Amino acid sequence: MRESFLHYLWRTRRFDLRDLETTQQQNLQILHPGEYNTHSGPDFFNARVNIDGTLWAGNVEMHLLSSEWHAHKHQHDPAYDSVILHVVLQEDLPVFRPDGSRIPCLTLQGRIPETLLGRYEQLESSRLWIPCETSFAEAPEIIKQQWLDRLLIERLEEKTDLISHSLLQCGNHWEEALYQIVARCFGLKVNTEPFEALARSLPLKILARHRHQPHQVEALVFGQAGLLHPVFQDEWPALLQREYRHLAHKYELVPLKPEHWKFFRLRPSGFPTVRLAQFAAFLQQSEHTLAKILEAGTIEEVEQLFHVSPSDYWLNHYQFDKLSIPQPKPLTAAFVEVLLVNGVAPFLFYYGKQKGLERHQQQAFALLEKLPAEKNSLLDGWKTLGSRAANAYQSQALIQLKTRYCDARRCLECAIGNAILK
Ligand code: SF4
Repeated sequence: MRESFLHYLWRTRRFDLRDLETTQQQNLQILHPGEYNTHSGPDFFNARVNIDGTLWAGNVEMHLLSSEWHAHKHQHDPAYDSVILHVVLQEDLPVFRPDGSRIPCLTLQGRIPETLLGRYEQLESSRLWIPCETSFAEAPEIIKQQWLDRLLIERLEEKTDLISHSLLQCGNHWEEALYQIVARCFGLKVNTEPFEALARSLPLKILARHRHQPHQVEALVFGQAGLLHPVFQDEWPALLQREYRHLAHKYELVPLKPEHWKFFRLRPSGFPTVRLAQFAAFLQQSEHTLAKILEAGTIEEVEQLFHVSPSDYWLNHYQFDKLSIPQPKPLTAAFVEVLLVNGVAPFLFYYGKQKGLERHQQQAFALLEKLPAEKNSLLDGWKTLGSRAANAYQSQALIQLKTRYCDARRCLECAIGNAILK
């Protein structure tokens, strides 16, 4: 058993509440369990209990064994001086306050309903794909649905941490922040960091001055990426190199180191050189992107902003100076979906929240509802349990559930887990 199960029992008062008394046989009544504290300090704040006719208001601390009070050195921490009740599974040692008075103690052993304990132990000991795999179907659909709605918001909120950081860094310039977030997404998992660093080192205002000269935008992108150093055989990279030398001098630009870019284990179509060429193509046509997204009436209008193809040179190249079989390399629909799910939807959500404009939060949800669910083994796992994601809204929520709750065995905080334990 983990201590978190005691927190759950206390929070939900799902233990035998009849004839409660402390280990010193004092009559005990719980008037309010207090507020659950997930940070440092006692486990519950502002609880109210009646002990032998005296009303106590203060904090409640919990342990499996009372001696853990000393093991955790609470006797030296003033944050625990106002504990009014020690709730434990077993009292193996009496605990005293610094003034010498004994802290009233309630033991829960023998008070936990057997069915509840059995179900909890089953969840705890399960080594299946998700701990509740054998009882997942028992949880009512309505609870699952409401919980997934909540998890989708939680996932978007997690992603907005990055956006708020970018916004702070670029002095609350929303367009610039969107540009940086989109850049991160272009890097997918492997080249996220260099793409973000590239965007931070190359402000939109510089790009805006050269938007109508596509080769200069591409020169700025590849030059800042640090990939225009070698002596080139092909005329196109040599031209980009000349352009970049001039522009870097003009704007005092400092390029990234080329070793930041990872090619290893990537298919040629996913090489950073191809992604950078696509990114440059996106930047050439990305004037007022945020405004266009905010005004877009349909998902197709948003998608259209990302339908770009790199310059002609990339038709038969994956890297500079290496000729390959001709193959067009536009941003694929699947790649655009990744950009929308991971970049645009969280951005809209955050923008709506910060500006107090509910409609943009709704726009984020609608976007996710219209985008197809991702395809991966995690979502296949949910499918075998009967939870098939119909769209990106549901798939994102299911990813959040598996990665943040099931894998971390947070069943007691999960609405499905709570339904199963009932
Ligand atoms: S976190 Fe929820 S869904 Fe996941 S295993 Fe636990 S109870 Fe089941």
